[in-house]
Amino acid sequence: MPIRHLVWFRRDLRDFDQAALFHALGESASVYTVFVFDTTILAGLPRADRRVEFIWHCVAELKRALRASGGELLVRHGDPVELIPRLAQELGITAVYCNRDYEPLALRRDALVADRLAGLGIDFRQYKDQVIFERDDILTAAHHPYTVFTPYKNTWLKRLGQADLDSYPVRERLARLAPCPDEPMPSLAALGFEATDLGALNVVPGMDGGMALLEAFGQRIDRYKTLRDFPAKKGVSYLSVHLRFGTVSIRELARFAWNHGGEGAMCWLNELIWREFYQQLLWHFPQVASESFKPAYRDLVFPNDEEWFAAWCEGRTGYPLVDAAMRQLNGSGYMHNRLRMVTASFLVKDLLIDWRWGEHYFAEKLLDYDLASNNGGWQWAASTGCDAQPYFRIFNPVTQSEKFDPEGRFIRRYVPELAALDNKAIHAPWLANSLPVGFRLGRDYPAPLVDHAAQREAALALYQRAS
Ligand SMILES: Cc1cc2nc3c(=O)[nH]c(=O)nc-3n(C[C@H](O)[C@H](O)[C@H](O)COP(=O)(O)OP(=O)(O)OC[C@H]3O[C@@H](n4cnc5c(N)ncnc54)[C@H](O)[C@@H]3O)c2cc1C
Repeated sequence: MPIRHLVWFRRDLRDFDQAALFHALGESASVYTVFVFDTTILAGLPRADRRVEFIWHCVAELKRALRASGGELLVRHGDPVELIPRLAQELGITAVYCNRDYEPLALRRDALVADRLAGLGIDFRQYKDQVIFERDDILTAAHHPYTVFTPYKNTWLKRLGQADLDSYPVRERLARLAPCPDEPMPSLAALGFEATDLGALNVVPGMDGGMALLEAFGQRIDRYKTLRDFPAKKGVSYLSVHLRFGTVSIRELARFAWNHGGEGAMCWLNELIWREFYQQLLWHFPQVASESFKPAYRDLVFPNDEEWFAAWCEGRTGYPLVDAAMRQLNGSGYMHNRLRMVTASFLVKDLLIDWRWGEHYFAEKLLDYDLASNNGGWQWAASTGCDAQPYFRIFNPVTQSEKFDPEGRFIRRYVPELAALDNKAIHAPWLANSLPVGFRLGRDYPAPLVDHAAQREAALALYQRAS
């Protein structure tokens, strides 16, 4: 019998520059492929979940692409710990190939799958794919993981060679996909989900969607550094969801930035390195998923006012930029990076609410939700994580608004009840000398939930007690 391999797709939903697929195709002339809608993850999600719909479309596109190359993507629904070994046994597979995932639950799942496969005499082979450098690739001179970004980045850049950016030429080998009878794809409803508003949002799933965004961003990458902090401007790439599900290749993105060069591209590469910094951090310190990276802040006692939390979630804190950002998140599943920092700082240091509450809320709502980056971002904002800055960096939500949305364009878009306020009043309506006729603060838009100056002092005292 010819050697048969099985490629298990997870967060790498593409048929190009894909490490596991490349290696499997190189080592067998008969390669099967599978994607599992994992019930252990799906069980905890609401029936209408934009991410599930996004993934569903990506899987459907990948299935079409692999079919067009003469293969078939088998799509299963269940627990991969049971399904993968069973399928491998049914198909007479020699080895299962997949790309590494560094999240604690994924590591546990993969260890169980590897164990079961070993019991059946089947190999489990894993590859680096979603990052340029992983795990112990970048260590300090003393062989410790980096816990501060800048030295990590410097070593990352020093280590980078052309080979790290080379694509895996998968497409040349796709003829080795095992021919299979066409299998229908389970519908969203069959998976227990319903369609969301994804189709109405400006989000195109799949490799096609990722490619279109990359091409468009390529035209404006030179302006990235100057525009990236202004949420009303089209400065950033919007590629995060595609990086999350692997419909773009990190090697392609980093190579593009590196070859393009210049301030804008290098600034963008810096952000891609932040992503890897947080990935390696989670891998080395998996405990950050549930507690502060800095031990001193593990016992911080936040007052956690539930009504304030609800106001933050719903975008009715009375701070226009914070509210606009939360409404962007709720309405689209995306939030601009500057605003993730502003809203996270506001939750923790103005409302004195545990960063994990916010982290959890973002995890539910973000289309690009990624445990490593989300946790890293929240711990950065809460000053509990890997950050050279001390806890007394506290964003002022009004000056952030004046600086990064000076004409209130972003606020007007998401908080239309403030549209008639002038460019000064819109950042802090309660301080305005005059408001438009007929507009009443507290009725048409909330009065501020808290006083920033007072809460700042309270936050400093809270952190000081723990330091
Ligand atoms: C509180 C908080 C929570 C966050 N949660 C997530 C999350 O769940 N998923 C996620 O992908 N990013 C998260 N980020 C990082 C960042 O906000 C998003 O990656 C970015 O806004 C996505 O938009 P973009 O693709 O247009 O980014 P661009 O500015 O175009 O950046 C390109 C890519 O670089 C990476 N990147 C950019 N900034 C960061 C950063 N600060 N940390 C890590 N990677 C970065 C992303 O992969 C991004 O797609 C979070 C940041 C904060 C402060």
